[in-house]
Amino acid sequence: MIPQTATTLNLATMLEDHARKRPNRTALIFNDMRFSYAQLNAMTNQIANGMVALGIKPGDHVALSCPNLPYFPMVYYAALKVGAVIICLNIMLKPREIAYHLSDCDAKAFFCFEGTAELPLGQMGKAGFDEAPNCEHMIMLTTNPAAPSPIEGVKTLGQLMYNQAPSFTTHATKADDTAVIFYTSGTTGQPKGAELTHANMFFNAMVARDLAWPILDNSLDGSNVVLITLPLFHSTGQTAQMNANIFAGATLTLLPRFEPAAVLAVMERDKVNLWTGVPTMFWALLQYIAANKIDPTPIAANLRLTSSGGAPMPVEVMRQFEETFGVRVLEGYGLSECSPIATFNHIDLPSKPGTVGQPVWGVEVCCVDDAGNPVPAGEKGEILIRGHNVMKGYYKRPDATAAALQDGWLHTGDVGVIDEEGYLAIVDRKKDMILRGGYNVYPRELEEVLMTHPAVSLVAVLGVPDEKLGEEVKAFIVKKPGAEATEEEVVAWCRDQFAAYKYPRLVEFRDQLPISATGKILKRELR
Ligand code: AMP
Repeated sequence: MIPQTATTLNLATMLEDHARKRPNRTALIFNDMRFSYAQLNAMTNQIANGMVALGIKPGDHVALSCPNLPYFPMVYYAALKVGAVIICLNIMLKPREIAYHLSDCDAKAFFCFEGTAELPLGQMGKAGFDEAPNCEHMIMLTTNPAAPSPIEGVKTLGQLMYNQAPSFTTHATKADDTAVIFYTSGTTGQPKGAELTHANMFFNAMVARDLAWPILDNSLDGSNVVLITLPLFHSTGQTAQMNANIFAGATLTLLPRFEPAAVLAVMERDKVNLWTGVPTMFWALLQYIAANKIDPTPIAANLRLTSSGGAPMPVEVMRQFEETFGVRVLEGYGLSECSPIATFNHIDLPSKPGTVGQPVWGVEVCCVDDAGNPVPAGEKGEILIRGHNVMKGYYKRPDATAAALQDGWLHTGDVGVIDEEGYLAIVDRKKDMILRGGYNVYPRELEEVLMTHPAVSLVAVLGVPDEKLGEEVKAFIVKKPGAEATEEEVVAWCRDQFAAYKYPRLVEFRDQLPISATGKILKRELR
């Protein structure tokens, strides 16, 4: 048979290439488990064969809910090998939210880890799955692959892989075939699926790999170790961490939860060279080291580069981290709709703290005024992005796509300033979004659900300043006449409705909310 890998940009070929040329190199570390590139590829192939046996075909949609465990890359690359589209759900979603995502993305199969801190063992996903009638298959990923399924009648991944061959011919996807769908609210409203093609994801992984490459000077012997604490379901963890470093043939050490003691222990145990986090993670590590008088020297001896993104990195946190670990912290910027990397403080150029650097290769960035005209250097305007990283559009939402993409330019809803040397600084947001500890929270989604609470007559959700998280989520509520709810009750109700990172912890009752002449709630005044 004529080999197909040279004719396709299928993302999974990155894994196959190393499995063929560097089979014994360690691809994954998780606790005391190690998987070589050959083993990772073979297990991925078994899952791909299992998916085909299940009836999954090229173009079908496969949803995955899984923490940072070895199962994640296996199911992810298996779906891509089949030619299916993979949709990775936030593992913190509640059943109501899971059902929405599974239905919205038209998932044919749902691969779901058996339990998370949010939902008890066996419950994870099941409730949401029951509400999504078009999702034909649910496969449980069990901690022990040989264990029976915690849900009667539902197959485990172990059963799906059983007796399947360890070889598989990867589907020759085309460059503009959809590879993944990331759920994001974009600039407005309900979560929607940003469709990224194989070419989008492939080039962005390549760019991310090359941004770190110059400093990983022993990379030729394959001993670079990358610690992954960012969730792999999110675009940054997926592209900049997993795909970029599988592409680089590095060793990925996985941590399912960010916890400072565990992060420092793994950095020391696995001699980690490269780590990417959101600013609150850098802050938490510094606090932990200071509080516990930890000597960073053994970690600093191996750590060569760190990078930050997702939220503004306070310059003082960056300075302290660089001083403590003797390593540079490079800040970048992007969004799910562009795979996600758009700009970065390049390693061989002077970095400018407080900026998110310059556009990466093949990507254009400009700032425009309200009339859509580019503003001169030094003046602020909405950030537009164009290039190989920009999505096809929002899945099944032509109106939202038309609003976000004009002449190939993605309208980000972020406000920035580009200086004379081409460095971008993020200075504001046009979109209604709260950045809580690196997670995006979209007020409109919360407001719509809060309006269904029996005591709520009117609500406005906004971000209030928080020293540790950057912003905290707060709901201002006008109660229905005679309604009896307390603030604590509303918070408890929200805890059941929304993933932990997004429910409002603060509630304040008001007699009325400031309303404009056109009937809009004036959030600026509430702030
Ligand atoms: P997401 O789609 O979840 O990746 O979120 C993208 C949004 O996060 C962007 O539109 C920005 O509002 C914000 N963001 C990402 N990186 C940065 C950064 N370095 N500084 C400030 N905001 C950022």
